[in-house]
Amino acid sequence: MKISEEKKGDEGSMVSINLGAFCNQNCVFCLAADGKEAYPRLNAKEAREIINGYLDQGGKFLLLTGGESTIHPDFVEIIGKTLEDPRVSSLNIMTNGVRLGDKDFFDAVIAVDPKKKISFSFSLHGPNAELAESITRGQKGDFEKTCAAMKYAIQSDRNVDVAIIIIEQNYRYLPEYAKFIIHEFPGIDGVSFGYPLLFGNAEINKDSIYVKFSDIAPYLQEALKILLAAGIRAVTAAGAPVPLCVLSGIEDVSVRPLIEWQRRYIGTATSGRLNTLKDEDEIIPKVKPEQCAGCALNDACVGVLKCYADIFGSDGVVPVTVDNFRGPIVKGSTLSECLPKLDQAKLNLIVLSGDDAVPGLYAFPEGKIGVVVREGGEPGKSSVKSQPKADETPKSKTTKERKTSAKRTRKS
Ligand code: SF4
Repeated sequence: MKISEEKKGDEGSMVSINLGAFCNQNCVFCLAADGKEAYPRLNAKEAREIINGYLDQGGKFLLLTGGESTIHPDFVEIIGKTLEDPRVSSLNIMTNGVRLGDKDFFDAVIAVDPKKKISFSFSLHGPNAELAESITRGQKGDFEKTCAAMKYAIQSDRNVDVAIIIIEQNYRYLPEYAKFIIHEFPGIDGVSFGYPLLFGNAEINKDSIYVKFSDIAPYLQEALKILLAAGIRAVTAAGAPVPLCVLSGIEDVSVRPLIEWQRRYIGTATSGRLNTLKDEDEIIPKVKPEQCAGCALNDACVGVLKCYADIFGSDGVVPVTVDNFRGPIVKGSTLSECLPKLDQAKLNLIVLSGDDAVPGLYAFPEGKIGVVVREGGEPGKSSVKSQPKADETPKSKTTKERKTSAKRTRKS
């Protein structure tokens, strides 16, 4: 694998290492279910070689995925050797938590991590055993094991996130799920909501699991607001996106992970192959329904998954305008003039009257983010799939430089 210069550095590249598409559950939407050939089981030596190839280029941030990486027979050895390497800054383990619910096994994992480089991303798809286990289709008792593992992880003072995939079976329970997470897992860091990708079991079960965004929207918004009010970092998953018009007034929960993902994520490595972010964009195509052309947030939104459009058309897609945008709107003639007025937490809609306004999604210092549109212009016409500009300040670049940068980012 090759890390581009722009993705190196202290807050730079992340790579996902797929140990193999084997699992101890069989989720109704599992995209790895037909991935046994694409993601064969790596042995410890192969895994080490891939990880070394990444570290040799200055990489520091690893994600470990599968299938279910924790049931790999050499899991503890693989992570132990990885964590011994001083070049590794962090190792995120993406897991269903079932094996980690065994306290002895959890302790064995933590024992090879004296410097607390491990973080955990658990999958949990409902607020009770009956619902969650009907989705994961593993063993009775799995829900309790995952919950136990999450508690062990929080007690061990590791960063802990939980992810849920929104499907027909669980979307009405999202607010209940949010309350359950707050009540059961005090100290949890984040919750991520994703939409199923049309691979593996999701393709087999597509008639029973896919649900319209117009149905999801009120439940998802309520769940996100409950979590945010409790101080939990609630987001929608960058790799399985929800369009911004479904997140009216809380668009930042989608835009921030997307910026992070596009800035830092290299791709998924497996035996002899790296699926880059660009490859994954091609494997997981997104489309913009016709009405997106008139949307003020077009430059900040990836649209909908093509599989969604194939099933539901443009259901739930409602163009955002200066009149119906519910977040902060800042008007001015230049970006410099608007910058101090931007809301720090939310996605700002920046309406510029000056001729040199370059429409697009901007990430500013201090974590401020905004979408620039031209006053009286045609929003969203400038680009179908733009990417965020990294920490670009209006003062740091000339207008010409900004325009060049904008073109470059959109091509990549
Ligand atoms: S670009 Fe399209 S999908 Fe995205 S927020 Fe606007 S209308 Fe919705």
